[in-house]
Amino acid sequence: MSSENKKKPEEKSAQFTMPAPLSNLEIKYTKIFINNEWHDSVSGKKIPVFNPATGEKISEVEEGDKEDVEKAVKAAREAFQLGSPWRRMDASERGKLLNKLADLMERDALILSTIESIDAGKTFVSSFFADIPGAVKSLRYCAGWADKNQGRTVPMDGDYFTFTRHEPVGVCGQIIPWNFPLVMFAWKIAPALCCGNTVVMKPAEQTPLSALYMGSLIKEAGIPPGVVNIVPGFGPTAGAAIAYHMDINKVAFTGSTEVGKIIKEAAGKSNLKRVTLELGGKSPNIIFADADLDSAIEQSHHGLFYHQGQCCVAGSRIFVEESIYDEFVRRSVEKAKKRVLGDPLAPGTQQGPQIDKEQYDRILDLIESGKKEGAKLECGGSAWGNKGFFIEPTVFSDVKDDMRIATEEIFGPVQQIMKFKTVDEVIKRANNTTYGLAAAVFTKDIDKAMTVSTALEAGTVWINCYSAMSPQAPFGGFKMSGNGREMGEYGLHEYTEVKTVTMKIPQKNS
Ligand code: ADP
Repeated sequence: MSSENKKKPEEKSAQFTMPAPLSNLEIKYTKIFINNEWHDSVSGKKIPVFNPATGEKISEVEEGDKEDVEKAVKAAREAFQLGSPWRRMDASERGKLLNKLADLMERDALILSTIESIDAGKTFVSSFFADIPGAVKSLRYCAGWADKNQGRTVPMDGDYFTFTRHEPVGVCGQIIPWNFPLVMFAWKIAPALCCGNTVVMKPAEQTPLSALYMGSLIKEAGIPPGVVNIVPGFGPTAGAAIAYHMDINKVAFTGSTEVGKIIKEAAGKSNLKRVTLELGGKSPNIIFADADLDSAIEQSHHGLFYHQGQCCVAGSRIFVEESIYDEFVRRSVEKAKKRVLGDPLAPGTQQGPQIDKEQYDRILDLIESGKKEGAKLECGGSAWGNKGFFIEPTVFSDVKDDMRIATEEIFGPVQQIMKFKTVDEVIKRANNTTYGLAAAVFTKDIDKAMTVSTALEAGTVWINCYSAMSPQAPFGGFKMSGNGREMGEYGLHEYTEVKTVTMKIPQKNS
């Protein structure tokens, strides 16, 4: 999600006067948002929310569970009834409301970026210059589609007039992760509302604050009650209640492959709700000797280290052609060593903390496995600082394809660099994974670029760039990286039921 704009957040901040994060931020919204009102949890329980940079508690939010999901689904169903204000609203009006929500996000960009930084450990620069504008663009992109999602007329056999209607699917459960809380919130609600659906959203338990703030903006924008409901809670409780619910028509999930399987199973065991999944990855990034090396090193660095490596598209298997391998490793290590770690709110910080202790422990364990299995640790490899969940930028060379660091999604600042000799060999090795989210190839040879990009089994393939994403381009995975696509025109299909309507045409002499 790093390249909503052409320049990296750090480069952008150098161009403008850097806005300062809010030092006196008050966390106002901590309750469950149903019917445009704030509710306590039925159980009375709360979830503590921590700042991963310090480990300190910054707030607590109401802990939603099955009963709260029940209330939210009732509200969403009511809002979806035929004849409701939402169902009677002109499609163009839905677009206006999405644009209004985008306007409010822009107005409150400082608040939202500060929340995102203290809750998710994002550098303020990346929140302000990438995440907020990225989320806003997604809302505006879908706002434009609201009155353009049109059906067709169909040349049916026989004396019939047949047309298709694009109708909303209904109540959509949406379960999002902690790495891009606001961008994921926008990616989920924008196509859902654009197509006329209603939503029950569950943000990740680690990062509920920006989603709840969005609840206040949804109300202020004038989106009718019950159209978007937000239930913070844990996965196995509130998340499972959504996945198993008999009155939810579709669930959209972004997160781990492991939980993706649970969601699909829950859909099968309940009402066969439609399921779209955006899951993990172990994306190959292939560098040929004829590539622009400066650019390839730079892109590969950001393609892995952006947001502490906590991106589903992270280019975590870098295959480098033999003749440039040593130089690529040397220069990648130089870059990694220069990364500035520290307080995500401080200007100049490039790398903040990992999201929580669980992820931090997992990453350190994977680093240990890399050392034990014989990869060469070029730099980093340890925890950093004396508070929070920081990990040194880490680079491994001499990585073999079957090592854990080359097969498992690390979701941390750990770069694996492998060597290859031929095109056929690297294609085979790149595709030798159960994942298929993204891939990249760096070369100046257009034939090689086409051959390799055609052969790669991934939902997104970049040529001479990495992480270039924006709402117009569909995103999703091959193989176990997911089902369905988000954003772009393809993303609308996932929130649309196609109804075929056929009318008999009376014949003059019949
Ligand atoms: P990660 O491993 O990156 O934390 P998860 O897949 O565990 O990713 O979490 C992504 C989202 O899925 C979060 O909102 C989380 O609460 C939710 N989740 C986790 N377990 C379940 C589950 N069993 N059913 C539904 N949602 C879940």
